[in-house]
Amino acid sequence: MASKIMSINAGSSSLKFQLFEMPEETLLVKGLFERIGLEDEMIFSYSMKDAKVKTSVKGKNHEAAVDFLLQFLLERGVVTSLDELSGVGHRVAHGGEDFKKSSLVNQDALRKIKDLSKLAPLHNPVNVVGIEALQKDLPDCPQVAVFDTSFHQTMEAKNYVYPLSYRFYEEDSVRRYGFHGTSHQFVAAEAADYLKKPLESLKIISCHLGNGASICGIKDGKSVITSMGFTPLAGLMMGTRCGDIDPSIIPFLQNEKNLSASEVDKLMNAESGFKGVTDFSSDTRDIISEAKKGNERAKLALDMFAGRVKQTIGAYAAELNGVDALIFTAGIGENSSVIREMICEDMTFFGIHIDQSKNQQNAKNISSEDSATQVMVIETNEELMIVRDTFDLI
Ligand code: ADP
Repeated sequence: MASKIMSINAGSSSLKFQLFEMPEETLLVKGLFERIGLEDEMIFSYSMKDAKVKTSVKGKNHEAAVDFLLQFLLERGVVTSLDELSGVGHRVAHGGEDFKKSSLVNQDALRKIKDLSKLAPLHNPVNVVGIEALQKDLPDCPQVAVFDTSFHQTMEAKNYVYPLSYRFYEEDSVRRYGFHGTSHQFVAAEAADYLKKPLESLKIISCHLGNGASICGIKDGKSVITSMGFTPLAGLMMGTRCGDIDPSIIPFLQNEKNLSASEVDKLMNAESGFKGVTDFSSDTRDIISEAKKGNERAKLALDMFAGRVKQTIGAYAAELNGVDALIFTAGIGENSSVIREMICEDMTFFGIHIDQSKNQQNAKNISSEDSATQVMVIETNEELMIVRDTFDLI
């Protein structure tokens, strides 16, 4: 039966939504509220058919955004009654070890998501605000939580326990969780579809390279290893995040620069990565253009980024004992032929050869004829994955 299902992604001052007709997967409308809570008005933008509109609307919290959104759907005739909404899927940052897959939100699930705020203090509380706002306006509509972490719950203990005292895992849940799970799962399934091979038969390395960046090794359709860790700060160098560094640098900076723990935390999350190394931008478009003009620091930052991605691919190829498909996705992965080329250069040992012209065209399969590994550029669509899971669960 046809159903209208909405995805909701609530951030601290934003709320993104997409409404799909399922099972056809037709996108009916998508949009975004920004600057929520900063003033008495928020910015609302949406696109529907050919129309793209940006306007400001009254209201200063997520509840007001949700009230406005539902009224908007009725007024624009996207639905004739709110009863037509058969489910809402929410992106939730952290599912800890409680949620190994997406879950219908009942009282018990909501309590667990709130308890997991300890592990994701900036994200889970605001995801809960989104869920509760929808529950208030649509009390009879099933809500589903889709977690950034759950795809990685298939990792074995050897890949998620940190070599710290084991009691920190037992008492405080300190372990690798991994994030971007919805995206890695989505692009892996798309790649298998494209290659017309069962997902379970492929060894896949998925590189989600956006402002936040992570890599995932996938075998039998399951996440085996991923680069983000206890938090999304770990692993690769990112737009403003440092990724893996020698942990002793943290107390060193605290002592030498007289910084508090939270100041170092902010430094590593918001003032490092591309931004920290170049001192002028976190955006790889700016950095590539400066590197072309001869800016040495911009070149260094790009070399560092590509090098770390390459090293991680090598490590994961060892973990998987080979790689059938190497996937690039998200802002950098989908759009930057320059960075993909830097990463794939001199990877012939792994059977990775790319075709320059296909790479420059952002083609879906950029491997050359003689490449044993299929190198692919796949657009991620976390919202569609959320809506698919929601549709399946309801
Ligand atoms: P987020 O993690 O915020 O969702 P995205 O996946 O949207 O990030 O990726 C955003 C990043 O993608 C931008 O900061 C920019 O660095 C990069 N990007 C987008 N288009 C290009 C391009 N054509 N060339 C290089 N980098 C790009």
